[in-house]
Amino acid sequence: MDPIIFKMIDTNFFTRRPCVLCGGWTEKDQVLCECEGEHVCERCIIKASADKGYVDRALEERAASMERSAISFRSAIGRVKLPSHAEWLKRDDEYSDAWFNANIPGFSDGELASYHSSYYSCRYGEEHPLMPEWQKLIEAEASRRGIDLLALIAAQKSGDALPF
Ligand SMILES: [Zn+2]
Repeated sequence: MDPIIFKMIDTNFFTRRPCVLCGGWTEKDQVLCECEGEHVCERCIIKASADKGYVDRALEERAASMERSAISFRSAIGRVKLPSHAEWLKRDDEYSDAWFNANIPGFSDGELASYHSSYYSCRYGEEHPLMPEWQKLIEAEASRRGIDLLALIAAQKSGDALPF
């Protein structure tokens, strides 16, 4: 049997990747353990370093898990009901508005709220002709209030700590 050799690959694209062994995710590592587009996370490398049987057991567990998933997926055919995109956007806006209201006193009183709505309503349409104009309005209003609003929006979206 041909060996399947994972190599250490340097990267400057820091993102999490699915781990083929445990089904978890890598960290945002600068060195990837990679083979033909598949990755192995550091936790699995630690386990494999300490236990020679780990890799084959993990592969068998993953294969069994995927077989169970295949049965589950097929049993769902014809039964899945999703919210509409409009419902999803409405709920996302409600969440976002609640977050801004909780974090910026008086947010809902001013025009900033409508700028914010405009900004979010075109989040998937960055080529919208008014987008640069809206962004300028948002930045001007944020500047007037002494708030780094774009950093705030980025923090909200990423779940990072607030930038103030
Ligand atoms: Zn792993």
